[in-house]
Amino acid sequence: MWALVWLLLPSLAFAQVPSNEYLRADSAQFQVFFRQEDAGTYRALWGSLYAGARRLETTLGIPLRDTVTFIITPTREEWRRVTGGLPDWAQGVSNPYYRVAILKSPRFGDPMRPFYVTAIHELVHLLLRSGKPDAFIPRWLDEGLAQTLSGESLHLRTGLISQAVLSGRIHNFYQIEHVMQMRANEASLAYAESITAVDLLLKNYGWDGVRRYVGALRDGLTPDKAFIRAFGIHIGEFEGQWFEYLRENYRMSFFQNWHFYLGIIFLPFLALAGLFAWLRRRRILKKWEEEEQTEIIGGTTEDYYSSDDEY
Ligand SMILES: [Zn+2]
Repeated sequence: MWALVWLLLPSLAFAQVPSNEYLRADSAQFQVFFRQEDAGTYRALWGSLYAGARRLETTLGIPLRDTVTFIITPTREEWRRVTGGLPDWAQGVSNPYYRVAILKSPRFGDPMRPFYVTAIHELVHLLLRSGKPDAFIPRWLDEGLAQTLSGESLHLRTGLISQAVLSGRIHNFYQIEHVMQMRANEASLAYAESITAVDLLLKNYGWDGVRRYVGALRDGLTPDKAFIRAFGIHIGEFEGQWFEYLRENYRMSFFQNWHFYLGIIFLPFLALAGLFAWLRRRRILKKWEEEEQTEIIGGTTEDYYSSDDEY
């Protein structure tokens, strides 16, 4: 589906975006389309793109040779129209063949995902394939690097991972590849998992190792062959190390999971409360039954009314 989205996007973006409704800013490296209402956003974006690009080029060891286009969509309707039905949780999308990134204006985008962070996130995706649009970058690495280099990884949702480790719901690399078909919750988990996989890659091999692996992928090697060339082991072995890393580092984080444990602690209390309520009701009904018997036998209803306060 990802490939399909990428194939559809350029035609949609350029055929359907009426140029007279968008303003355009050009330089050798960047081109930004925006509406008048987003002029302030565009000016700040321009600055962060230049600063971001220099930093990313050095970290990843890839020069940004192409001109990259950013489109700031002004409304949710325009976003849907231009992207052709991407899931709503996506804040941005990029296409390496047309070197274009489409973003939501901060006037309607998710306030929890700052606009400029998303812009750098998309720039990482484009830079990884700059001059090599056909390079296959596995999704866990692609999203892991985009989040790490844009600063999103600082907000890693460790609770999500701990719960997934506890309940055995961790995705493998193959499943993460299909993140665009996941629902929002599952996708959040896959994105968080990608950060931890890149964390481990950095822990084991550093940025130098990341540059070697990305270089091998950009040379057209498959993820496994590239891994062997960069690190001398199969990617499956690294995946196994990563599962172990997650179990060791995320299983017991009680404080990040307080709401999860709280639920578990309260479940027996809830069950007990239910049981007591049922017993009490049964006792009352029984008492009424007995009193009814007394009434029939003894012939007075006084006891029934005077004992009412007890209940
Ligand atoms: Zn991404």
